[in-house]
Amino acid sequence: MRKNIVAGNWKMNKTYAEAQELMFQLLEYKKNNTTNCEVYIAPPALYLTTAKEVFKNGEVGVFAQDVSEYASGAYTGEISVDMLASVDADGSLVSHSERRTFHGETDNHANRKVKALLDKGLTPIYCNGEKLEERKAGRHFEVVKNQTETALFTLSAEEIKKVVIAYEPVWAIGTGETATAEQAQEVHAYIRSLIADKYGKEVADEVSILYGGSVKPDNAKEIFSQPDVDGGLIGGAALKIEDFSKIIEGF
Ligand code: PEP
Repeated sequence: MRKNIVAGNWKMNKTYAEAQELMFQLLEYKKNNTTNCEVYIAPPALYLTTAKEVFKNGEVGVFAQDVSEYASGAYTGEISVDMLASVDADGSLVSHSERRTFHGETDNHANRKVKALLDKGLTPIYCNGEKLEERKAGRHFEVVKNQTETALFTLSAEEIKKVVIAYEPVWAIGTGETATAEQAQEVHAYIRSLIADKYGKEVADEVSILYGGSVKPDNAKEIFSQPDVDGGLIGGAALKIEDFSKIIEGF
């Protein structure tokens, strides 16, 4: 059965000392609480090795925020899948909306990154979602369909089962505006139906689909209670243990 997951995307926040402090707070929290979901963090890449040391018993999954589609070589500033594997990282976010907006990433890039991660046994958290104008024009299903098909539908059934999808409507990321639980559910159910049409229901039922976009302690429970919402990708509210722990308790 698919996993419930709460994943924190730290983005470009926190000095090393601040990052360590939050990791230790999260470790302490995990030691003292039983959670009904897996907990992941995606700290800045510079802190991945520290995160793996802190969570050395796998208490929290450790993910990069991005990964190169290339294996190695002259790609200044990039980090390869092999490098992530060599520090025992669990996987990477792929094509977060901020990578799309500020770095021109497309679903073709996402497709190659997802495949590169899977080939080395790492987990991709593939992010998609429509922009505000696309939602207003009623094109959100069409946009998400094109994104999902381009990024994922060259994978085999065994491969796609290992992908985590994060549906993140761009208009809800960092804006304080959250999709309603019903809006999240209808797109999640739609994404799952696309996977079922291509790979069969059994495969679709294995894929965890997270919602992202202004999830906070006071709305997490309602969003996570939807049948096709298997957790959340959390930005701003992942930066404080008080908020992040309450969101985890939404399960
Ligand atoms: C995100 O960065 O993936 C995100 C959902 O951010 P926020 O929770 O701040 O909207």
